Amino acid sequence: KKKQSKQAEVNIGMVGHVDHGKTSLTKALTGIWTDRHSEELRRGISIRLGYADCEIRKCPQCGTYTTKPRCPNCLAETEFLRRVSFVDSPGHETLMATMLSGASLMDGAILVIAANEPCPQPQTKEHLMALEILGIDKIIIVQNKIDLVDEKQAEENYRQIKEFVKGTIAENAPIIPISAHHEANIDVLLKAIQDFIPTPERDPNATPRMYVARSFDINKPGTEIKDLKGGVLGGAIIQGTFKVGDEIEIRPGIKVTEGNKTFWKPLTTKIVSLAAGNTILKKAHPGGLIGVGTTLDPYLTKSDALTGSVVGLPGTLPPIREKITIKANLLERVVGTKEELKIEPLRTGEVLMLNIGTATTAGVITSARGDIADIKLKIPICADIGDRVAISRRVGSRWRLIGYGTIEG
Ligand code: GDP
Ligand code: MG
Repeated sequence: KKKQSKQAEVNIGMVGHVDHGKTSLTKALTGIWTDRHSEELRRGISIRLGYADCEIRKCPQCGTYTTKPRCPNCLAETEFLRRVSFVDSPGHETLMATMLSGASLMDGAILVIAANEPCPQPQTKEHLMALEILGIDKIIIVQNKIDLVDEKQAEENYRQIKEFVKGTIAENAPIIPISAHHEANIDVLLKAIQDFIPTPERDPNATPRMYVARSFDINKPGTEIKDLKGGVLGGAIIQGTFKVGDEIEIRPGIKVTEGNKTFWKPLTTKIVSLAAGNTILKKAHPGGLIGVGTTLDPYLTKSDALTGSVVGLPGTLPPIREKITIKANLLERVVGTKEELKIEPLRTGEVLMLNIGTATTAGVITSARGDIADIKLKIPICADIGDRVAISRRVGSRWRLIGYGTIEG
């Protein structure tokens, strides 16, 4: 029998077009409404990444999958299988950079498609393309809002989904009809998560590394200096294990200006606490969003100032790169727009938006030759040779995902 764990062991992305039900499904699974910020509540759309965990459990008597300690079907005590974490991404077309930084944390994904609209909608396509670009191939498709359509419409929508995913990374993904709103068929989805999104094999002794997705100052305004708590980082551990007491380095860290020179300075600090949601941990491994309490001046961590940085033990992190050379793989056509324009090769002088891990930065191409491009970055990145960079280009008034590059130097 598997021991209950306080920390999730796998990150599952909620992706798909705006309003198709990603946040509602996250709520149906975890009980948590991830749109918490006043602007999100007012506009009714997710703007930031949301995180919530749940347990997947199974009834030993009737085999029902549930998130609850008692079987909703036969009331027997259920058995713990796994704790999983969901990364709820925004589906709005202007928030692709946020979606992409979330995607860098996903071990698998649930592509949410509303059954009451023609498929594919623009960001249904763009998000699936992002999964493809980042190599996330553990995918489940849910056909949501099934309560709003009759059987014939549901079948027609199912055919459209099948046609849409043909030849893509999601070609063989299961398609599960649900109603997030009425919590219908969630048990079938839980079983599919067990079957199709396994926990990746991880090496607990790998050099620990974390991508920072959020950073905070948790002190109330007016707190006395002696009572101030250090800066807090929220992120996903990519590999290895961090422990309370570890010295850590954060790269690229913060921008400093001394005299007329501006440069990026890594930060070093100490882990004073670790938490997964409300659970306090002594050590943390990959899975879920981990809150890392540090001794940093909270001024340095407020308002997501360190989002995009990478955390590791001192001296173990990749170099800080202000210029990169990439080998690009561009798509044939722009997805996520009405008229799917052809994608022209990269040009010297053009400005791109790049996503590497949780980092988003602009870059100017200083030299483009064939599929190779030298790029000068606005904000430097901490990345290894061989790491993947998602490339977006301005098309009309918006950044559009046009392909990916591999860092060559
Ligand atoms: P998101 O933008 O993908 O996160 O979508 P939301 O979860 O915010 O849902 C958008 C709207 O669709 C909200 O008004 C939800 O109440 C509604 N909705 C979500 N799931 C369902 C469903 O299964 N059935 C029905 N009828 N409405 C749903
Ligand atoms: Mg949402």
